[in-house]
Amino acid sequence: MLRAYRYRLYPSEDQKMMLAKHFGSCRFVWNYFLDLNNRRYAETGKGSSFKQMCKELTLLKKEDEYRWLMEVNSQSLQQSLLHLETAYRRFFRKLGEEPVFKGKHKRKSFTVTQRFSIEDNQLNIPNFKKPIRMFRHRDFNGQVRSITISQEPSGKYHASILVYEQDPDIQQMPVAEESAIGIDMGINTFATLSNGMRIQKPKHIVQSEKKLVKAQRRLSRKKKGSHNRMKQRVRVARIQEHMANQRRDFLNRVSDILTRTYDTIAVEDLSLKDMMNGNHRRAKAVADAGWYSFKMMLKTKASQRGKNFTEIGRYEPSTKMCSSCGHVKSQMKLTERRFICDICGYTNDRDVNAAINIRRFALISEGVPTESGELTPVDRHTSALELLAREGIRASVLVEAGSPRL
Ligand SMILES: [Zn+2]
Repeated sequence: MLRAYRYRLYPSEDQKMMLAKHFGSCRFVWNYFLDLNNRRYAETGKGSSFKQMCKELTLLKKEDEYRWLMEVNSQSLQQSLLHLETAYRRFFRKLGEEPVFKGKHKRKSFTVTQRFSIEDNQLNIPNFKKPIRMFRHRDFNGQVRSITISQEPSGKYHASILVYEQDPDIQQMPVAEESAIGIDMGINTFATLSNGMRIQKPKHIVQSEKKLVKAQRRLSRKKKGSHNRMKQRVRVARIQEHMANQRRDFLNRVSDILTRTYDTIAVEDLSLKDMMNGNHRRAKAVADAGWYSFKMMLKTKASQRGKNFTEIGRYEPSTKMCSSCGHVKSQMKLTERRFICDICGYTNDRDVNAAINIRRFALISEGVPTESGELTPVDRHTSALELLAREGIRASVLVEAGSPRL
C-alpha cells in the first residue's frame, strides 16, 4: 500500500534559489509541452506520448536558448512530462479536467524519483550540494518511492514522501446489516447518517470561509499589478492554506471515527463527470465541502482496518425513494426538506430517508438482503456520538417517529 507523508522543509537562502529554479523549470516544461500538445491535437487529432516528449525535451535542452534547463535535475523535468501525459489521459477518460497552464502564483512543485536519501531531519536530493532541513514530526517504515517538493502560495515549503508499506495481516470484516451505515453528504449539514445522526461542518471552517470571501472581494478591488494587490494575494493564499488544513483535519477525524465504529460504510457515487455536466454552483459546493477527499479517506481507512466501503450507483433513486415501502416519487425538489410518501404515508427528514436508501442499496449490491430500514444496534451509534464529541465535532441524532430510536 502506498502512503504519503508530508513534512515541512526549512531550506537555506541558497537552497531557496535552487528550489525556485526547479519549480520554474518544471513549470516551463509543463507549459511548453502543453502548448505543443494542444497545437498537435488541433492539427492532427493526436498528441505525443511521454516517450516522444522525453526525446523532444533532450533536444530542447541542447538549444542555446533553453540551455538553463540543464541546471536542474533531469528526472524532475521528465516527471513533469509524465504528469502531463497522465493529466491528458484522465481528461480523455472524463476522469479529470482539461490540463491547464501553470501560473506563477499557484502552488509550485517538482518530483524526485531517484538518488535521494533521508537521514533524521535531513533530506538529500540530486543537484543540491547540502541536505535540506526537514521537520520529521512522525516516522514511517517502508520503501520510499518518490518525493514531491512543493511551495504553497504563502511561501511555505513541504516534502511529500510516497512510501510503500507492507500491509499487516488485516482481517476482513463481513458485510452485515447490523454493522452497516449509509451516509448522505449534504451542503448545509456535512453528512447525515442512516441512523439519523447529523454531522455538522465545524464553526471554525464556516468562519474561515467567510473570511476568504471577504479577502477575495478585497483582492478583486485592488489595482492590477500593484504592490497592494500582491500583498492581498498572499493574504488570500494564507487563508486558503489554513482552510485546507482545517478541512483536512476535520475530514480525517470524522472518517477515522466512522471507519472505527462501523464495518460497512455506504456512500453515493458523485462522479466528477456528472458534477461537471450538471449545475455549476452545485459542482463548486461539492468541491468546497471536500466530499471527494472525504470519500477517499473513508476508502483508505476502511481498507486499512479490514472494513467495507461501498459506493452505490449514481442512478439509484436515493432521494426520491420511500425507505419504508420502496415507492419512487416522480420528483423531489431541492427545497423539500421532508420526505412524505404518497403511498404508505411514511415521513422522515429528506436526508435521513436518502441515507437509509443508500445503506440498503449497498447491502443489496453486496448480496445482503434487507427488509428493514435501519437495524444497526444502539451501542455503535452511541460510541460514534461519543467519539465525535470527544473530538469536538458537532453531531446530533434526530429522533422522531419513523426514524430509528436510540
Ligand atoms: Zn412509502
